[in-house]
Amino acid sequence: MADQAFVTLATTDNYAKGAMVLGRSLKNHNTSRKLVALIGPNVSEPSRAVLHKLYDEVRLVDVLDSGDAAHLALMKRPDLGVTFTKLHCWTLTEYSKCVFLDADTLVLSNIDELFEREELSAAPDPGWPDCFNSGVFVFRPSNDTYEKLITACSENGSFDGGDQGVLNSFFNNWATADISKHLPFIYNLSSIAIYTYLPAFKQYGRDAKVIHFLGKVKPWDYTYDTTSKTIKGQSLDPSDLYPNYLLQWWELFSSSVLPPMKEEYGEQPFHSGCTESDVHVEVAQMHISHQPPPPQISSQERKQQWEQGQADYMGMDSFDNIAKRLDSFLK
Ligand code: UDP
Ligand code: MN
Repeated sequence: MADQAFVTLATTDNYAKGAMVLGRSLKNHNTSRKLVALIGPNVSEPSRAVLHKLYDEVRLVDVLDSGDAAHLALMKRPDLGVTFTKLHCWTLTEYSKCVFLDADTLVLSNIDELFEREELSAAPDPGWPDCFNSGVFVFRPSNDTYEKLITACSENGSFDGGDQGVLNSFFNNWATADISKHLPFIYNLSSIAIYTYLPAFKQYGRDAKVIHFLGKVKPWDYTYDTTSKTIKGQSLDPSDLYPNYLLQWWELFSSSVLPPMKEEYGEQPFHSGCTESDVHVEVAQMHISHQPPPPQISSQERKQQWEQGQADYMGMDSFDNIAKRLDSFLK
């Protein structure tokens, strides 16, 4: 079991915060496997130091510097930078089997049983269930597979612009070949599914083992007040707080990640004389680029975005709005 590992990836300090919470959540549920974080060169020294405390191995993956096939491929497809970095997980050949988890996932119970599965096991994507979602998958590191993936990626690109498109094209019989490679949805539960099929969520959601904060707004984009234990954010929709996964992420962040972060960053980034909760909010907000509110767009543009898979699930295209629209058509 020493040759099996959970693997994640962070190329920025923000995603590193996600990786820290994820690492903590795996440890809290007593995993017996190793923890590996792949990081990009832009992750700061203090963040690396905190990751070292939580992960058995923190490996720098510098695609630009690697001089291998990925570097050459990246010259042709600079848009696929993070994708090539994620594919590097196949080079972890000192491990015989691994489970990849996106940095925006949170583990709610022990999931070591995933190592009983074979490559490539993953859960269906809520948007197109014949594709697997690449936020959680079981794989076998292999230089041979790695090179084939890089070649496929540089030759064919990615139909969705990211790693999920590449991996689904490569492991293209996932949907039909072997049902044991279909992970139950509770190993990659995304909030989108909660809104699109609420009765199923009410029935099965309590069994959730891995929460995936898929989409544009990530847990670290919100702010959290440690005194009142509440979440604030420009884009906060009341439904974001149901169920309380976001709160669970923040509780873990403030209780287990902030203390070592404060140690590593020192007091320097903080104003003097601010309250404990201000400090927390401030560390949380370090390196955050605020997203401006979405511009008002025409219904034609919205239709286009919807067709390109960019539905505004929390806003205009929320379940409530769609239901209202349907009701008005039916009347
Ligand atoms: N990632 C990263 N830096 C980035 C974007 C993505 O390190 O700038 C990694 C990170 O592990 C992240 C994963 O790639 O969880 C997939 O991206 P993301 O979770 O944002 O995509 P989504 O799940 O929302 O489709
Ligand atoms: Mn993700």
